[in-house]
Amino acid sequence: MNTKNKIVISIVCLLGFSSGFFVVYEYLSPISYVSSIKETASAIGSQIDIQRMETAKESKEPAKDTNSKKNEGTKNKKTDCPLPKKEYPDYTYLDVGQTVAIPDKTYIPSDLVLLDKSITTTTNCLKKDAAQAITELISAAKKDNYDIKVSSGFRSYSTQKIILENNIKNGNKNATRLIAKPGYSEHQLGVAVDLTGASIKNISAAAKFKNSVEDRWLEIHAREYGFVESYPEDKEDITGYMNEDWHYRYVGIDNAKEIIENKQTINEFLKTRKEAELQNKITQ
Ligand SMILES: [Zn+2]
Repeated sequence: MNTKNKIVISIVCLLGFSSGFFVVYEYLSPISYVSSIKETASAIGSQIDIQRMETAKESKEPAKDTNSKKNEGTKNKKTDCPLPKKEYPDYTYLDVGQTVAIPDKTYIPSDLVLLDKSITTTTNCLKKDAAQAITELISAAKKDNYDIKVSSGFRSYSTQKIILENNIKNGNKNATRLIAKPGYSEHQLGVAVDLTGASIKNISAAAKFKNSVEDRWLEIHAREYGFVESYPEDKEDITGYMNEDWHYRYVGIDNAKEIIENKQTINEFLKTRKEAELQNKITQ
């Protein structure tokens, strides 16, 4: 084979490889993958895959705040979580619920950190304090021989939208009593977790989590790490959500103690706190 032929063959091979690469890249691209999942996902369990791809998509998007060195710095492997694209007020203690929305639907907490893969069923991020607390909780459970994992943590507005739409589309009659509307989810605050356990094969947001050994352990110990169940049994008239034994929100140890002692829901507690703060501001 002469040199000219060799060059021609090399170019043909290179072109073939490149187009193959772009086809593969396009298929794996988070955006197209999310839309294909959107068509097929059904049960709440599907949120795991959607969320994983959404997390990847959001981490991939560059921060638009180019003035901020800080943002450039957090874009690296240190967090691997979505970054806020602007500065937001801190909504950590917002009494978000069926009728209370997060004021800005693009809200992303500024200090999301990736949970260690040993404690999650998929890629999950939480605010730093909540992440540390859930890590401690899971390790304490392990010492008592209970295998608990996080199946869902931070969820963006768009992830929440996909989850709710899929559930409605698939005929889940309780969708709006089980899944928050986009912009109304505690998951978007980065402090809520869905928990699961080995005894139910780590299925996410499953009714059979109720009364599992892990559920019973959490009923006693979650508060010691600052977590409280957001949607307890027999409180649907107050929370607007059906009982979700798997859904906990991090509020800090002292607040958790107070909420449980007062037999309040988290939102009742936060609402009272918000009103007291407003009252203070007015009288000052
Ligand atoms: Zn949840």
